[in-house]
Amino acid sequence: MPGDELLERLRKFNTDFFPQYRSRFKDLVEQGQHPTTLFIGCSDSRLVPYLLTGAGPGELFLVRNVAAFVPPYDGSAGHHGTAAAIEFAVLSLDVKHIIVCGHSHCGGIRALYGEPPPEATNLKAWLELGREATLPVQPSPEALRRTEERSVVLQLERLMDYPMVRSRVEQGGLSLHGWHYVIEDGEVNVFDVKQGCFVPASRAEHSGDGPYSLDPVDPGQSIFNEIDEAWRPQR
Ligand SMILES: [Zn+2]
Repeated sequence: MPGDELLERLRKFNTDFFPQYRSRFKDLVEQGQHPTTLFIGCSDSRLVPYLLTGAGPGELFLVRNVAAFVPPYDGSAGHHGTAAAIEFAVLSLDVKHIIVCGHSHCGGIRALYGEPPPEATNLKAWLELGREATLPVQPSPEALRRTEERSVVLQLERLMDYPMVRSRVEQGGLSLHGWHYVIEDGEVNVFDVKQGCFVPASRAEHSGDGPYSLDPVDPGQSIFNEIDEAWRPQR
C-alpha cells in the first residue's frame, strides 16, 4: 500500500466511516470499554476477527502475534506482551470468553518445519511455543492442517496454566474457545473438547465454550488426552 494511499484511507475513515459510529464511539469514551471477549489471533492479514465474529467497536479485546501463540505463564515479570494482555483482559476487563484463533496456510506454523532467517532471533525463540504441536512427518498440507489445529489446543492448555484464567474457568465465569479458520472455505472449525476434534461452525452445537465451563479440566490433566491419538503432541 503506497504511503499516499494510507493518507487517503485515513481521511476516508474520518469522513465516510466515523460518522456512522460517532455515537457508539462517544459512548465508549464516556463509559469506557467493556468488551466481553479476548480474541488471540494470528497476525496473518487474511484473518479478520471483525468479519468472522461480526463484532463492532468496543466488542473485542484483540491480541495478535505470529501463529496465535500463548506464552507459558511463569510468574516472572518480563516483557511478555501477550501475557500482559491476557492478565489485563481477565483481571481488569473481566472478559467472559477467550478465543484462540489459528488458521489455514499459517506461515508461522509452516515455519516450525523449517529454519527462520538466522537474524530473526526473536522469531526463532517465539516459534518454540508451537513446537509441541508438530508431527514427526513431512509437512504435507494435511500435516500442516493438523499442526495448526493441534497448536490451537496447545495454546488453550497454556491458557489454563494462567492462575487467573484457570480459577475463572473452574468457577464457570470464563469460557475458552479454540478456533481454526479455513480461509479458502470461509469456515471456522471450533474445537469440541468432548468430541476431541474440530467441528465446522455450520454444524457445531456450540462455539467451543461448553466443555470448559460445564466440565472443567482436572488440574494436571491434558485436554490432549481427549484428542484423537494422531493429534496428540510428542511430549
Ligand atoms: Zn498464521
